[in-house]
Amino acid sequence: MKLNPCPFCGSSAELSDDYLFFSVNCTNANCEIETKRFRFKLDAITAWNKRHNPLHQAMLNSLMKRYAVNGKISDVGMPIYDRECLKLLFEQGVLSLSNGLYYPY
Ligand SMILES: [Zn+2]
Repeated sequence: MKLNPCPFCGSSAELSDDYLFFSVNCTNANCEIETKRFRFKLDAITAWNKRHNPLHQAMLNSLMKRYAVNGKISDVGMPIYDRECLKLLFEQGVLSLSNGLYYPY
């Protein structure tokens, strides 16, 4: 499966593993973008490729900065505009939903 270029700098991406876990990172040494570590190679690749859209990434960063608690976001009490952003990111597969809380892949 092909890796999309880095959403921030456009450099190529590479898959790495430490025998137990897989992650994908940008090959540009000045750019510290990488996915979480995943048990399965395909999950790491999927997570990276889903984060390709720079607009979605910017929305995600902004929401995480303002609302995330322990890396998760609740939409309870959130302004409608931000709730729409959250919903869009969920629909685009950038965020997943578990027990009423959204979190990045
Ligand atoms: Zn990069």
